[in-house]
Amino acid sequence: MKFLTIKKRTILFVLTAVILLFSVIGACFVIQASSPKALYTIVIDAGHGGRDGGAVGSTGVTESELNLEFSLELKELCEEYGFKVVLTRKDMNGLYSLFATNKKKSEMKKRQEIIEKAKPDVVVSIHMNSFSSSSSGAQCFYASGNEAGEKLATRVQQALSTEIEHTGTTAKVGDFYVLNCTDYASVLVECGFLSNPEEEQKLCDEEYQTNFCRTLLYGILDYFEM
Ligand SMILES: [Zn+2]
Repeated sequence: MKFLTIKKRTILFVLTAVILLFSVIGACFVIQASSPKALYTIVIDAGHGGRDGGAVGSTGVTESELNLEFSLELKELCEEYGFKVVLTRKDMNGLYSLFATNKKKSEMKKRQEIIEKAKPDVVVSIHMNSFSSSSSGAQCFYASGNEAGEKLATRVQQALSTEIEHTGTTAKVGDFYVLNCTDYASVLVECGFLSNPEEEQKLCDEEYQTNFCRTLLYGILDYFEM
């Protein structure tokens, strides 16, 4: 470097520094753009299954099959977005051991095991409601005392209230095993009422399911402040 004047050396130094700085900024952007979503794991839990069909609509459609359809759709959307997804139930089979005398207990234990193994950032449990033929709308529940669960349920509820008819903005406390079995941020979503034939028709519609799941995803993104 003896042949370079001090001025040239300074210019060279500054240029190298600038190139280095831009490389570091560029690398940061790449890391930011690709990693955070992949770092988040979402457990999607399709309620019921096997012998336990859950609620039944007037057409004979069961809650367990709709829960699975919604869960698989949500999985696809979450994965497209870059999240890691773990399903508790992947098909129409129940999660209980065939040898268990108490099938419900065995099934719930299995759900808990899958959630604990996944160490998720959020748990989304999908269900269909049933009450009267005039009941309608979606409702999110969280476990009492679970602050992260309350935040998640609230964000998802608020997202749903903008898209789904007859859906309020307030998430409610719910005493459900899947919400109580771990301390992870968990929401149970009752997507709509199978006891209402009009709503049942909507819940079976593929386009409605996609729109519903996309809205669920928006709520999850809002929870992650994304
Ligand atoms: Zn259910």
